[in-house]
Amino acid sequence: MRPSLPSPPASQPAGLERLCARQAAGYGYDHQVVISVIRPAAAAVTVTAPAKINLQLAVGPARADGYHGLVTVFHAVSLLDEVTVRSAPHTSITVTGEDAALVPVGESNLAWQAATALAAAAGVAGAGVQIAIRKRIPVAAGLAGGSADAAATLVACNELWRTGLSQREMAELAAGLGSDVPFAMVGGTAVGRGRGELLTPALAVGKYHWALAFGQAGLSTAQVYATCDRLRANRAAAGGGPEPAAQPELSTPLMAALRSGDPAKVGPLLSNDLQPAALSMQPELRRALAEGRDHGALGAIVSGSGPTCAFLAKSAAQARDIAVGLTSSGACRAVARASGPVPGASVIRAGAPS
Ligand code: ATP
Repeated sequence: MRPSLPSPPASQPAGLERLCARQAAGYGYDHQVVISVIRPAAAAVTVTAPAKINLQLAVGPARADGYHGLVTVFHAVSLLDEVTVRSAPHTSITVTGEDAALVPVGESNLAWQAATALAAAAGVAGAGVQIAIRKRIPVAAGLAGGSADAAATLVACNELWRTGLSQREMAELAAGLGSDVPFAMVGGTAVGRGRGELLTPALAVGKYHWALAFGQAGLSTAQVYATCDRLRANRAAAGGGPEPAAQPELSTPLMAALRSGDPAKVGPLLSNDLQPAALSMQPELRRALAEGRDHGALGAIVSGSGPTCAFLAKSAAQARDIAVGLTSSGACRAVARASGPVPGASVIRAGAPS
């Protein structure tokens, strides 16, 4: 158990107020975030939020509500989107970064929905907000970039408006926005159940180094799940396999490996029930996975619904070697290196009004 957050020092200068204190306890990262800014409310708030990798993704059959019940081990990595919010007469969104053209800038953007949902819940409806998203997480890549932006916007607008909502109310808002949004709020390493929104911290030790290979085109999460269902139905019709368990199970060996802090133990235990579907939709991903393994990756897996492939390395240097090897092989569009676990949505700047 980590120590609880310290109280602000008695000598804290007048006019400074502790605004945000997020318990890091249990989520496996190494620091706590305490932000102090000068009253009155900031004119602009900037928040980062991380991409996620699923170390395990066990998918059950579709539920009556259309979602699939699942058990997953989320792991937040140091590939971060950045969201800045400012008060404005009307809500608007701008997006910069390589994949900016793929991101909607209207009401369908999850960041817009997050700001609107928070304003309604906190009774500041009618308040506009200018949202600037700096995108580094590739779009439709299985890395939950839209969810990261939603989480970042919730945290940023909460700072801007000083809503006073409890952590529980914020978590409920996050779950209403999307299955991966609650995890993007907390980060670290965590077990997700339900449709992924019911979180418990995972006891993970150490730092993990990754090479990420981005696919040529995105994959629709809904289509990957539909393909997964179809492949399973075909296999069952051919008498070739058991039905998926109604309640998928957490991998005990993976949890033990994460507690050991040894990436060599974690690597072979990475698993993803959506991988066969993603590979059937983008067969070229097989080559990327093989290239990464050939360059010494301890584990190679499609992240979530794909098409990003994640390669676990034994060190930062080996992650670089894998990334270089993947680049020269031409097996993917682009590569990145990242490490995890990292915290979820975190305020990095809060500027006083001018
Ligand atoms: P999912 O979160 O559905 O599993 P993903 O992680 O693979 O998907 P995202 O990058 O979240 O992929 O994008 C999925 C779709 O969400 C995009 O094609 C885009 O149309 C839409 N979208 C809405 N808001 C955003 C946002 N802020 N950033 C990226 N995509 C967004």
